[in-house]
Amino acid sequence: MLRIALPNKGRLSEDARELFADAGLEVRARGERALTAALGDAFEAIFVRAQDIPEFVADGAADVGVTGWDLVSESDRALTCLADLEFGRCRLAVAAREDTGVATLGDIPAGARIATSFPRLTERFFGDRQLRVEVVPVSGAAEIAPHLGIADIVVDLVSTGSTLRTNGLREVATVLESTARLIGAAEPGLRGGRTNDERERDLRDLVGALQSVLRARGQRYIMANVPRDQLDEVRAVLPGITGPTVIDLLDGGRHVAVHAVAPAAGLYRTIAALKSLGAEGILVTRIERLMP
Ligand code: AMP
Repeated sequence: MLRIALPNKGRLSEDARELFADAGLEVRARGERALTAALGDAFEAIFVRAQDIPEFVADGAADVGVTGWDLVSESDRALTCLADLEFGRCRLAVAAREDTGVATLGDIPAGARIATSFPRLTERFFGDRQLRVEVVPVSGAAEIAPHLGIADIVVDLVSTGSTLRTNGLREVATVLESTARLIGAAEPGLRGGRTNDERERDLRDLVGALQSVLRARGQRYIMANVPRDQLDEVRAVLPGITGPTVIDLLDGGRHVAVHAVAPAAGLYRTIAALKSLGAEGILVTRIERLMP
């Protein structure tokens, strides 16, 4: 079985489980705190801390893993991104205490102390820009450091920015944009006597299943009855994947039903346009999975 390392708690764990369940890979754990679980028929999940997942995958303890790109980048291990899973969106940002007057990277004084739980990425970011700073590694909650007098500047993850604001910090620059990713080892070994072909096939199936869910999340299935003589205009409004499906209605031929896949964003505009073309009985449904 292909072994997948999933985050056991924290921001990424619920979204990861939900994505796998939507892809038909429901976690079947033997209890709340189980460390492993069957994931569909072909996969096995192990639950570990998100920050340990790069190591587990790089060392071959798991074939693939789900974790944040920030943690993958900081680990500096030879890993590849197999799919962007689109949740857990955040950025690793440089932030300075508002009362220091630091508003840009250029305002940071030489030798400034920077607290972060991402020391490698921080060293590299400032090194690449020939800015001399002293990186102070902390194990978490870097935003507290300025209050403790440890550092005036932090490099920390930001999602909404409310934690920075609460702590009187101003965002100065972005080090890295991150989302949760499915990762694999750059040079994978083979676990459990499986052949390379079997591994490749399982990986292809897994990535395909996850991507079909991600694709579907941004789309809706829209159905409407429209006057037959408006079909050309309707086609322009509802291009669909290969153009809308058109179905006869038993009303003597005046109307037809059109079905199409349309982007969820801006759907209200599509509906308004259909109404202006005389559409009736408009239905919109979610799509579970989409394989073009
Ligand atoms: P926010 O107040 O929404 O900007 O969130 C910032 C806090 O949440 C910081 O303490 C971050 O360490 C943490 N955080 C935000 N997004 C993520 C993420 N995707 N993964 C892990 N931690 C995050």
